[in-house]
Amino acid sequence: MNLPYAKNLEQTRERIRKICLRLDRDPGQVMLVAVSKTVGIDAVESLIEAGHYDFGENRIREFLEKHTALGEKARFHFIGHLQTNKVKDVVGRAVLIHSVDSLRLLAAIQLEARKKQVVQDILLQADISGEESKYGAGRKEILEMIQANEQNSSVRIRGLMTMAPYRENPEEIRWVFQKLQDLLIDIRNKPFYNTTMEYASMGMSNDFEIAVEEGSNVVRIGSSIFG
Ligand SMILES: *Cc1c(COP(=O)(O)O)cnc(C)c1O
Repeated sequence: MNLPYAKNLEQTRERIRKICLRLDRDPGQVMLVAVSKTVGIDAVESLIEAGHYDFGENRIREFLEKHTALGEKARFHFIGHLQTNKVKDVVGRAVLIHSVDSLRLLAAIQLEARKKQVVQDILLQADISGEESKYGAGRKEILEMIQANEQNSSVRIRGLMTMAPYRENPEEIRWVFQKLQDLLIDIRNKPFYNTTMEYASMGMSNDFEIAVEEGSNVVRIGSSIFG
């Protein structure tokens, strides 16, 4: 068992716990996704042995490799940019796809899920800051995706994801998390079918404390654990 990773994980959990206690939130309601994209199967296994089961991958090859080796023992999230021709590799394997950012990609996931006869849980990736403009959908397209999925029983939209740009002082990007949370609540208050909007996936090693303060309940943490 690789103790440093388990110890880092425990310290990260402790930091989440502290914020939650201060905010009167239940720490058990914040899902920690350990982003294992930089490490091998051994490292993932060491955390499974320590009782952690949620891992995030952003590349198809590594996702498939780790899912094939450990998919029975752990849950793998797909958090990276997804091309439509790779959808077949991820649907039915990922417990949650965090990065759905276009109608075209959504349509491909719907098709593949129906074909495989699975229900695929997804998050819609929002481009809030305008700086990560390569990926992520704007508000209008987010609403269009939700509408396009209202009659679709093979895909469930469980919430939103965003990536804030890196800042040495993460206070400068607090507004990004506030805006994602506002959008989430706005959508929740609209009478859409087939969308629950219970997950706000935001916060990484450098900014997760601020993200949790602003309502995040899914944090994706890599370097603080696997350093
Ligand atoms: C790498 C990555 C993370 C984790 O970043 P760290 O700064 O290492 O915590 C989170 N989300 C996505 C989409 C990533 O690609």
